Amino acid sequence: MLEHIARQLPGLLYQYELAPGGGGRFVYVSERGVDLVGLRWADVMADADVLWQAIEPDDLRRMANALKVSAAGMTEWRCDFSVREPGTDDPRWVLATATPERLASGATLWHGYAEDVTERRLLDKVRQDVAVAEAANRAKTEFLSRMSHELRTPLNAVLGFAQLMEIDQAEPPRETQARRLRLIRESGQHLLHMIGDMLDLTRIEAGGMALAPETLDLRELAAQTLEMVREAADKAQVSLRLHPGPEITLSADRTRLRQVLLNLLSNGIKYNRPGGRVDLRLGIGAGANGDQVLVAVSDTGVGIPQADLAHVFEPFHRGRQALGGVEGTGIGLAVTRALVALMRGSIDVSSVEGAGSVFNLRLPLARHDST
Ligand code: ADP
Repeated sequence: MLEHIARQLPGLLYQYELAPGGGGRFVYVSERGVDLVGLRWADVMADADVLWQAIEPDDLRRMANALKVSAAGMTEWRCDFSVREPGTDDPRWVLATATPERLASGATLWHGYAEDVTERRLLDKVRQDVAVAEAANRAKTEFLSRMSHELRTPLNAVLGFAQLMEIDQAEPPRETQARRLRLIRESGQHLLHMIGDMLDLTRIEAGGMALAPETLDLRELAAQTLEMVREAADKAQVSLRLHPGPEITLSADRTRLRQVLLNLLSNGIKYNRPGGRVDLRLGIGAGANGDQVLVAVSDTGVGIPQADLAHVFEPFHRGRQALGGVEGTGIGLAVTRALVALMRGSIDVSSVEGAGSVFNLRLPLARHDST
């Protein structure tokens, strides 16, 4: 009966006897044990050394000490140890427990169970690593979010006072002073923008950004957004065009959707050349989960090298612009992608170097929530 039952167990049952003089032997090892850690348990029964030799020396010492404690106090023996499986490099981990019994002869007999716990240990290790990585990531996000917040307050004061000095009627700045003040203001605004993006990115990562969807007219929002970048486009001698398509009403967070469009349009203008174009196309198309809103921002600009295409949405990736082309931070598209994901949409890019780029945005037409 015992043999029948033992065969159903994942591990093995055993009895180990330790003579008062110290010699030990396995009195019984269940049949299933043949599979465990690749040892032939008949050999182990014949000579316990077969097992001892397969165990890491440190573990063996630990086991022997625990066995002594168990024998002295008649307490449960519990030990995990690694066994070098013959013919393999990776050790297997075994967890063994046993209850001691004192025999009339003075010997101690342990009744025990041993199980291969290698996979369980690996899983525990992975879980631990994940928990550590998650904690580190949370700390980083918290730090960045705090820093961004703390940097903004004094920066706003710097910007505010620079602006006051620029427009001071009582003591108007001289021409050189005005130029320096403008530089302070522009650099400050650049920094403020970058800090804002950082704050957004960390907030989204930490799950701390909630969307406030409302029903909105996409054509109207697109036209408004286009006006916001018109000045920059004129300055860069880039023409802007809206292809409104059919009337589209969707439920989305107005501020955040505008932010996404602004990022894409600004990039289309920034990475363009005099006489170039930026086109904003709106439409509706079929997606896997019903109809989708399609927004395409295409430009006739410098394009993105093939090798950079896969990385443009990564934070701080600026491609060849990092070598000193157009000014930027490399966060805009990372924020854009994070916002789009929050809206349950998707974004991708295709580009031909030297000819231009197209950013395709897809958003669910149906109502989405911020969770
Ligand atoms: P930034 O513009 O501040 O560098 P982004 O995250 O918006 O940051 O863009 C990342 C990089 O992707 C840019 O530095 C640029 O190399 C490239 N890029 C983005 N949009 C375009 C575009 N429309 N045309 C060419 N390159 C682009």
